[in-house]
Amino acid sequence: MRGETRSFRQRLLTWFDEHRRSLPWRTEPTLYKTVLSEFMLQQTRVETVLPYFECWLQRFPDFAALAAASEEEVLRQWEGLGYYARARNLHRLAKAVDQEGVPQDTEGWRRLPGIGPYTAAAIGSIAQGLPEPVIDGNVVRVLTRLQNDATEFGSAEAARRRFLPLARELIDPARPGAFNEALMELGATTCRKHRPDCLLCPVREFCEGHAAGRADSLPRLARKSTRRRTVARLFLLRDDTLLLEEYPADAPRLAGLAELPELPEPPPGKPVLTRTRAISSESIREEIHALSASHPMVKKILRRPGLRTVPLRELAAVSLSGPHRRWITALLAERKSGQA
Ligand code: SF4
Repeated sequence: MRGETRSFRQRLLTWFDEHRRSLPWRTEPTLYKTVLSEFMLQQTRVETVLPYFECWLQRFPDFAALAAASEEEVLRQWEGLGYYARARNLHRLAKAVDQEGVPQDTEGWRRLPGIGPYTAAAIGSIAQGLPEPVIDGNVVRVLTRLQNDATEFGSAEAARRRFLPLARELIDPARPGAFNEALMELGATTCRKHRPDCLLCPVREFCEGHAAGRADSLPRLARKSTRRRTVARLFLLRDDTLLLEEYPADAPRLAGLAELPELPEPPPGKPVLTRTRAISSESIREEIHALSASHPMVKKILRRPGLRTVPLRELAAVSLSGPHRRWITALLAERKSGQA
């Protein structure tokens, strides 16, 4: 990176103070709002989080209110945001903070559920003024370009480790939270993955990648191979009841949530609905099949624990995973229009 660290900080923070996006967790910020936003923003875009954040704050305005809620209520409020382990961890964290008080350093935060090094540094710096650098994908992109570093990184963690010393050196000890947010904001809005807006960049004169004319080819990340698979699901509607599969409380991913039951394999015949979705490095084709209770494949799965029939009028009260609620709503609407 070119130039002096002190001028870099000043330039970046002045830009951030003038141009930062107005986000609800930045309005009258509190520790609770910072923690909540960090949990919701894990693997989820800001635009998706905004409506959930507002509703959540109305229902659970602070750690005590969240700690007092049942897990079922918490999951219902999270419904549609995905990665439900975050909701359960946040609930457990609220109980710990409510009972034992607020951690005062990043080590203390890391002992709480759902908190890794990134989230601990983000909460510690933004809400408590701790001089801890935060390195997310946006920050890696900015730092790689500032350094004109053409290393091919095998993983996000490898890139994070590489840039930790530089981030520690750059962070402004007087405003560590604002500095971290500014670097992330620069990556999200200006130093974008494709076609960075270098002409509008407040730190252009410090940037080696821009000077070398190859900023948009950085960072170099090893290509992840995408695994593709098909999941077949059952849509069994009988006498205005729908068959659902509820996951037990100790299930690793979807504890306490219900979904359309999975079939052992795609049956012959055309599905009534197909959707493709990406989860981590997997591309999953979901096929939903409307089969009767006498179909051999259905007979086979009916003995599975966790299956239950739910009257349609009670569906709204069931904690369904987000995509499944959308699929079921679409299929029921289609059925209704077919009956009309
Ligand atoms: S000059 Fe361009 S490449 Fe360099 S940090 Fe700014 S936006 Fe990114």
